[in-house]
Amino acid sequence: MTSGQWLEVSVTVDNEAAEAVAEVLSRYAHRGVVIEAGPEGWEAGPVVVRAYLPADEDLLTKKRRVEEALWHLGQILPISAPTFRPVIEQDWAEAWKKHLRVLRIGQHIVIRPSWLDYTLQADDVVIQLDPGMAFGTGLHPTTQMCLEALEKLTQPGVQVLDLGTGSGILAIAAAKLGAVRVLAVDNDPVAIKAARENVRLNHVQEIVSVVQGSLGDVGDSYDLVTINILARVIVEMAEKGLAVRVRPRGKVIAAGIIVDQEPEVVAAMEREGLTLTERRQDGDWIGLIAERVHLSET
Ligand code: SAH
Repeated sequence: MTSGQWLEVSVTVDNEAAEAVAEVLSRYAHRGVVIEAGPEGWEAGPVVVRAYLPADEDLLTKKRRVEEALWHLGQILPISAPTFRPVIEQDWAEAWKKHLRVLRIGQHIVIRPSWLDYTLQADDVVIQLDPGMAFGTGLHPTTQMCLEALEKLTQPGVQVLDLGTGSGILAIAAAKLGAVRVLAVDNDPVAIKAARENVRLNHVQEIVSVVQGSLGDVGDSYDLVTINILARVIVEMAEKGLAVRVRPRGKVIAAGIIVDQEPEVVAAMEREGLTLTERRQDGDWIGLIAERVHLSET
């Protein structure tokens, strides 16, 4: 792609959220970020935060990262969904499709956008994905950490609980790695719709049940629990009986944790009987594996 082509990202926000949105966009926008007064002027708000992403071979990845980072921010601040506009005439939809690729994670996991062809290799565990509006494209480092951990920990026959399933990516991976039963839970109806479609697309509907709700709606206990949500939510779940949903010697894979928040999450888990057994770091992101100690050891 020739230089000089850009994708404009605009986000309309309240004054109070502008700074945080600008910070997120500045990670990906090489020419800086502008904050402009909205139609009502500076005082009344809202304001528009605008940035430009260079249209190079990483554009799609950057766009997804921006969407995912803004999505995370949207959990704590009132921000609109970003709008994107190419600043030169071009058929952008086609341009992006060209850049979409098949993603390999861990030893055997392959994430394939549903419209791309892919030739299977021996031992491949292929997940077809059509993320729609839901989080969980496989590109985010937190998702990749969880997939790698699942690949290591999913023994044939295990039962898995996926809290905050998003696109369903981790639940589908668990099913394809040998779980016999997976419960995928999310409190966002958009995620539920995307997850159900992806479960069908991957022919794992006999194994994976997708349910709208949260930890409080879960009965039973599981050999493996995945939670890739925000640190705050993980702490809250730890305090609200997460450990009860983990079988003795069962494991929790937790991610979505920024490095500064790690001590708080670890402390909350350990208080509730979940002992840290492994930690991974990728940039600022932390992934944790904790084990529920055997009842006789508590
Ligand atoms: N599991 C996917 C998606 C992670 S994004 C992956 O690893 O890529 C986090 C998801 O958690 C979102 O879909 C969001 O809707 C959901 N979520 C956030 N808070 C939640 C809560 N309290 N209970 C259930 N789901 C929650």
